[in-house]
Amino acid sequence: MPGRVGKESLFPAHLMDCLAFRSSHLEFVDRTLPRGMMAAMEAHCGSCADCTAFDTALRRGLLVAWNLARIEPRPDFLERLHSRIEVRRPATLGPVTPRLAAG
Ligand SMILES: [Zn+2]
Repeated sequence: MPGRVGKESLFPAHLMDCLAFRSSHLEFVDRTLPRGMMAAMEAHCGSCADCTAFDTALRRGLLVAWNLARIEPRPDFLERLHSRIEVRRPATLGPVTPRLAAG
């Protein structure tokens, strides 16, 4: 459609440079950019060694982060934490009031 502007519009390839690539990189990884922008990002990544290295390093970092073991606190963690805070807290400050039920 002539003059169409929107999610499907083409991104002018000459406007895609390293700065534009890196500015939109998170959306590129999440694949949330408009189709034309995705194509311009892919084309730039395929032709720029620096941005290819940037993209690869960031994706590897994300994979490491996603594959880290989830740490779950013990069921009594908050109770023990508050007990320890009470022990170290000066009496003049009064008791610690947990606000767990509000969340
Ligand atoms: Zn680049």
